[in-house]
Amino acid sequence: MSGHALIAGAGIGGLSAALFLAATGWRVSLFESAPVIEAVGAGLQLSPNATAILRQIGVLERLGRTSLAPKAVRVLRARDGATLALMRLDRAESRWGAPYLLAHRADLQRALLDAAAGQEAIALHTGVALTGFASGPGGVTAALRKGMTRFEVAGDCLIGADGSRSLVRGRLLGGDDALNMSRRAAWRALVPADRAPPEALRPESCLWLGRKAHLVHYPLRGGSVVNVVAIVAQEQGKADEGPFWSNAADPAELVETFKGWHESARALLAGAGEWRKWRLHDRDPLPGWSAGRVALLGDAAHPMLPFLAQGAAQAIEDAGALGAALGRVKAGGDIPGALSAYGASRLPRASRVQLESRAQERIYHLSGPAAFARDLALRAMGGERLLARYDWLYRAAPA
Ligand SMILES: Cc1cc2nc3c(=O)[nH]c(=O)nc-3n(C[C@H](O)[C@H](O)[C@H](O)COP(=O)(O)OP(=O)(O)OC[C@H]3O[C@@H](n4cnc5c(N)ncnc54)[C@H](O)[C@@H]3O)c2cc1C
Repeated sequence: MSGHALIAGAGIGGLSAALFLAATGWRVSLFESAPVIEAVGAGLQLSPNATAILRQIGVLERLGRTSLAPKAVRVLRARDGATLALMRLDRAESRWGAPYLLAHRADLQRALLDAAAGQEAIALHTGVALTGFASGPGGVTAALRKGMTRFEVAGDCLIGADGSRSLVRGRLLGGDDALNMSRRAAWRALVPADRAPPEALRPESCLWLGRKAHLVHYPLRGGSVVNVVAIVAQEQGKADEGPFWSNAADPAELVETFKGWHESARALLAGAGEWRKWRLHDRDPLPGWSAGRVALLGDAAHPMLPFLAQGAAQAIEDAGALGAALGRVKAGGDIPGALSAYGASRLPRASRVQLESRAQERIYHLSGPAAFARDLALRAMGGERLLARYDWLYRAAPA
């Protein structure tokens, strides 16, 4: 064994990191504050930069038939449903080295959990929250709470994979580190296939661009449901800041926003039974991700807006890079140095994705003449040239 890693948070990032560390000989204690890891969430677009890494730990195979490989990304104009661009994804494997997949977040989490359950080196403790930590030259001590019981666990390093409101991040950086709250909220629903218009069942990821709103949808789980995400303006003060999927939403609000949209989009929205929404947020890129024996990973390090669909993918990239960096440390080796090398290897790319996700937000929500010009440009460029703009992102970063 190379050492003992403590990880706070068993989301996509924490679980992936545990698997990579176990694969390189580390013992891992994974602490998750939720008492049970529930099958919550909705669809995730898993781009090739993420699937290439999931493949290395056998998770892509486990995901298997629950995921779906879309043939294209279709960009549509909201008012009349005209196709503005069609980006073909059917050559993803040869172009980027791994498939582009659509999966339910719960299916990915299940695949990660199953893989972790098969590893003796990983101990998952649910219902255990990290409440603090102390890091010194000889190791790190995590302060933990399970119900009313407080206890400590010692390890060689601590990884904060505890999401966008990360306690580890707050303690590591101190000072004012508030989230940037977006003026937009994401509404999410799963529409059963028999309540969706037939065109929404095509194996495509569809992006509708409208005035001050956009809509993303794609089929999931063998086409039995359609994942729908509507991004709309959110008034200040009405924002939901709870965790994913905890906030029920009133669909009447959506009807008004989408009333001028093509009937196909409206029919899809009408097919949803239950909506959940939350206010989008991100943070500015950080100057560094580690201090001593403590490092950040996933949304804890780089919370981002979802407009490039990269939050989970970047967390998975982090996990691969962390495994590579800590895997090189021999017994008694330089763990702070390895954590610092991990951060340095990932920070420029993840920061770029954070900033480009913000830029994408502006492009998606143009209105009037600017939107007209954008739509003309999309048509003029064509699917292939548009796709080439994502090559830097979808090609897996070397682990
Ligand atoms: C609308 C929307 C659409 C999205 N679509 C995509 C997409 O298509 N593709 C994509 O790649 N990404 C997408 N994302 C982003 C993605 O969901 C997240 O970036 C990703 O899940 C982050 O994973 P994580 O493991 O870093 O954090 P989280 O999933 O937030 O996990 C953190 C975990 O830490 C636990 N925790 C918190 N505090 C503590 C503590 N003190 N002690 C112990 N445990 C703790 C939490 O309970 C949680 O389980 C989307 C996001 C949004 C909002």
